[in-house]
Amino acid sequence: MTMRVGIGTDVHPIEPGRPCWMAGLLFDGDDGCAGHSDGDVAAHALCDALLSAAGLGDVGAVFGTGRPEWAGVSGAAMLKEVRRLLDEAGYDVVNAAVQIIGNRPKIGPRRAEAQRVLGDLLGAPVSVSGTTSDGLGLTGRGEGIAAVATALLHCTGRAATR
Ligand code: MG
Repeated sequence: MTMRVGIGTDVHPIEPGRPCWMAGLLFDGDDGCAGHSDGDVAAHALCDALLSAAGLGDVGAVFGTGRPEWAGVSGAAMLKEVRRLLDEAGYDVVNAAVQIIGNRPKIGPRRAEAQRVLGDLLGAPVSVSGTTSDGLGLTGRGEGIAAVATALLHCTGRAATR
């Protein structure tokens, strides 16, 4: 086996007045997500997809209560750490994709910038897209933002199958 796929999702409630970090970018004028960290659901979903693909668990296991030094850290820093863990375990990122589900922030105008920032963090192409849930559910009512991500990894010679 030389390739592995993974999936990740994340949902956070929107907290009025909180800085809006999304896909590694700060969106001025939009309300951000509440959470233990910067609330960047796109970065968190990507972390989970990458960890899933490598069989290394999930964000809760890697950055949870067992590692208090990671409390409040940025999504970008989490992605950097996940990339380090993948490297250590013998995996290269082939590509990753993340879709953000919510009314705000508007992803399209800053898609290229987000893809560049996330791609630099992972050392591989990252596709960023956005959609709405047409007024339905917590994302449609503007109560929260969700993200779904996938990742494809290449197992180097050092990778152990988990
Ligand atoms: Mg999260």
